[in-house]
Amino acid sequence: MTTTTIDEPSFRECVDLMVDRAISVIGLDEGTATAIKSCNSVLQLKFPVKIRGKLEVFTGWRATHSTHRLPVKGGIRYAPYADQDEVEALASLMTYKCAIVDVPFGGSKGALLIDPLQYERDELELITRRFAHELIRKGFLSPATNVPAPDVGTGQREMAWIADTYKHLHPEDINYIASVTGKPLHHGGIQGRVEATGRGVQYALREFFRYQDDVRSAHMQGTLTGKTCVIQGLGNVGYHAAKFLSEDDGVIITAVIERDGALINDDGINIDDLYNHIIDHGSIINFPGARLEENGQAVLEKACDILIPAALERQITLENADRIQAKLIIEAANGPLTYGADELLNKKGVFIIPDAYANAGGVTVSYFEWIRNISHIRMGRMSKRLDETNGLQMAAMLEELTGTAVSETFRNAVARGADELDLVRSGLDDTMRNAYTEIRETFLSNDNIHDFRTACYVTSINKIARSYLDVGAY
Ligand code: GLU
Repeated sequence: MTTTTIDEPSFRECVDLMVDRAISVIGLDEGTATAIKSCNSVLQLKFPVKIRGKLEVFTGWRATHSTHRLPVKGGIRYAPYADQDEVEALASLMTYKCAIVDVPFGGSKGALLIDPLQYERDELELITRRFAHELIRKGFLSPATNVPAPDVGTGQREMAWIADTYKHLHPEDINYIASVTGKPLHHGGIQGRVEATGRGVQYALREFFRYQDDVRSAHMQGTLTGKTCVIQGLGNVGYHAAKFLSEDDGVIITAVIERDGALINDDGINIDDLYNHIIDHGSIINFPGARLEENGQAVLEKACDILIPAALERQITLENADRIQAKLIIEAANGPLTYGADELLNKKGVFIIPDAYANAGGVTVSYFEWIRNISHIRMGRMSKRLDETNGLQMAAMLEELTGTAVSETFRNAVARGADELDLVRSGLDDTMRNAYTEIRETFLSNDNIHDFRTACYVTSINKIARSYLDVGAY
């Protein structure tokens, strides 16, 4: 997917060029650098499915970028513009992403060349099951080696079909339910996975605002509260990020860019109202809470504190980068900036929190789901009541020592054992904070690193290189 008419490197080349910046800072030998950057294997499939009485041939891919850790992990996207270059770029981003958030997986990605809106539910099920069948038979899908998840155009429903297809082919595999993540709750999914990427963006921004030096270098001051934000894409990631930031942190969403234009309201757009409007009307048009701007893409250039591209790759290119007025860009989508745009915006002094870190919340909670699945137990099941008893004992002891009764609110707070959602949120928050701190330390420790993306890749590639060097070649 490209919106640039200027001749710029492809998506995969852009990722590699960004990675090269980090590799030259590390001074990594050429062999190891090439080993890390190369996509290990790519499967291209063409398979027929009978749709409305006629055979249709579908094209799909699954790329495995790096197997330095297994399983490899990454979503499957359904899109009418998918191609191999995109799948390889996304697979490589998964490798760097997993390393940056200490998720012990390699990187992978899949895509099916399809416009899902053109098919009925039952047809999509048939196509998905057939695609999954091919991937399983060719060794590109299993709980131990390659675990897909949702991405653009797919969701819980598709993941349930994939898990069920794997179960039918491998009923003897006790971990069959871990063959895919992002499943519905009643099919082995985990609480908090749907909103995980958006929640991760929120946690990343909160962490950024804890460091006033970083806030100042983005030409801002203070906290998240009251900051203006333009968001592109109100899909799963964009919707949750915008909802959480506006509802929990007081961020003012001044514009939402969608396929059919953009909505602008400098006093703030109510995200749930807009989301419900889109569900009811299939479009942002005629939303009463904001002014419509037909040229949505131009609204990326609107002045704001925070710009969140949460749609697709290659949205900010050499064509529009110079006109971007945001002070901070946080990449909720994968690859929204081309290499050229990234260089230009760095020179302009725009602070960029890169995709490999910013949208890693999804794979982090996928990791929690996979652990839940292979341990065959809901998180918190063993400890919730114990926490409750300990909390009640603490409250009783406090009352005895002070001679005063504690309030009901306090008693309930200390006696509340953590459930699965609490644990997922805590694990995700901790992950996003630790990763930010690590990237920041890398950034501050080396005078040759001039931007946060390079710091992110240096941190990530150092970890991957260590694992390549420790094990050697086989
Ligand atoms: N598709 C998501 C991503 O790009 C999630 C991948 C996963 O959970 O494996 O990060």
